[in-house]
Amino acid sequence: MTKYIFVTGGVTSSLGKGIIAASLAKLLQERQYKVTIQKLDPYINVDPGTLNPYEHGECYVTDDGAETDLDLGHYERFLNTPTSQENNITTGRIYQSVIEKERQGAYLGKTVQIIPHITDEIKHRIMQLANKGDYDMVITEIGGTVGDIESLPYLETLRQMRHELGNENCLCVHLTLIPYLSAAQELKTKPTQHSVKQLLQAGIQPDILVCRTEYPITDEIRRKLALFCNVDAKSVIEALDAKTIYDVPLLMLKEKLDTRVLKKLKLSTKKKPDLSAWKEFLGRLKNPTHEVSIGLIGKYNELPDAYKSIYESFVHSGAQNECKVKVVPIHSELLEMGGIENKLSGLDGILVAPGFGERGIKGKIRAIQYVRENNIPFFGICLGMQCAVVEFAKNVMGLKTAASTEVNSKTKDPVIHLMVDQKNIMDKGGTMRLGSYKCKVAKGSLAAKAYGKSEINERHRHRYEFNNKYKKKFAKAGMKLTGINPGKELVEIIELENHPYYIGVQFHPELKSTVERPHPLFVSFVKAVLQNKLTNLEK
Ligand code: GLN
Repeated sequence: MTKYIFVTGGVTSSLGKGIIAASLAKLLQERQYKVTIQKLDPYINVDPGTLNPYEHGECYVTDDGAETDLDLGHYERFLNTPTSQENNITTGRIYQSVIEKERQGAYLGKTVQIIPHITDEIKHRIMQLANKGDYDMVITEIGGTVGDIESLPYLETLRQMRHELGNENCLCVHLTLIPYLSAAQELKTKPTQHSVKQLLQAGIQPDILVCRTEYPITDEIRRKLALFCNVDAKSVIEALDAKTIYDVPLLMLKEKLDTRVLKKLKLSTKKKPDLSAWKEFLGRLKNPTHEVSIGLIGKYNELPDAYKSIYESFVHSGAQNECKVKVVPIHSELLEMGGIENKLSGLDGILVAPGFGERGIKGKIRAIQYVRENNIPFFGICLGMQCAVVEFAKNVMGLKTAASTEVNSKTKDPVIHLMVDQKNIMDKGGTMRLGSYKCKVAKGSLAAKAYGKSEINERHRHRYEFNNKYKKKFAKAGMKLTGINPGKELVEIIELENHPYYIGVQFHPELKSTVERPHPLFVSFVKAVLQNKLTNLEK
């Protein structure tokens, strides 16, 4: 029978519930339990696909094409197992299906209410995930903080599930903040006491408290928290600020979070977690032999979460190369004001980021021209690849007005245009080309060398594509189309001859990089960037 572990949060948001959930899952996975993580988001959007990255950070896409919360990226990076549509549920989606059922007559004669109809639907979504993967445990992270109006139906579902399944089958781990008051030189437990009171008001006694803190918590604080919050002292877990999120599983192991969880769920603690591979990764991450600087050219740089998976992919691929990757965010709009040489000097490589719309496009194109002409390693992702195509058309092939029709719908040379099956789509939510697609990689190409195989699967999220009418012209001018989707003939990878490293991909490799399996394109890019730096030093 599947056991359920809920992770709730209190006091403030951004305490790292996703990382705690992922770390706990990692420890349980390394004890040979089959575990998955699910995120319940309290907002009304059906999914985060329509949210501005400034608002909500990156939109993470799964193999089955779900547009999801960025926490799912952490789950995959830690567990190295794919997530799916079922791993992320929003209030919008819950209400949508209840209302659809109501229209179909599923509740004929009944008043449709939050309890039981909405809570039943939430329960159904949790159980559905459990049954799908035959999991020993499902960890469900409830977004937001206790006390939010929006979270109430989720907390009520948790209360009901504990009532129905019993405490040894359904657990509540509550993450809270223990703030340090510098004037008083003290860690304070009161906010946590209040937050637990709020949970109690919803009918939930937390089993384990995970206390986020800047300073170690003393035994006295543990005892105090245990007494006031009704948990045993061993179930007060310290979550000290960590240098990297990848330290957190080890910190949780030291605090015995996994043992406490297993004991409460009456499961065996005999098999100890084997974290040797994880520690090896941390060893490489923390002891680099080289350092490189890579410019990340995007337009949402004010919020690094907008490019979360790219940053993390550089952590994985950097460790693999024993090379510290310093990612330097550069606003594409700034590059439109000239002085590009100054702004990009000192960078050993450039990545041009994904994105939507016209803002900042010119800056991206200028940066690509600069790295192409100056033999600086270049990696373009999605919009970054499309900009590379446009730049090449303009500056090498002489098609002066070449553009993507996303930016200029009337251009004479639409080298990037709307995909055929997108032409009649009006709705904005969930309508892009989404999820995993096959791609055939050309023999002898950079991509083939990086992947070490000729057929790959990568995740997509776009509406526009390379215009196949221009295939021959590009090939003749020296741009190689080295990755093609077999059924639809869509161009997925472009490369350049006579350049140390130049690659653009229509898909999102950053979504598939994990600690255990750093993405081959990121690994090969970092390697090339390092090579470029060392060669320049020699000169
Ligand atoms: N805006 C582009 C498209 O829709 C690129 C999207 C992206 O970078 N994810 O095709």
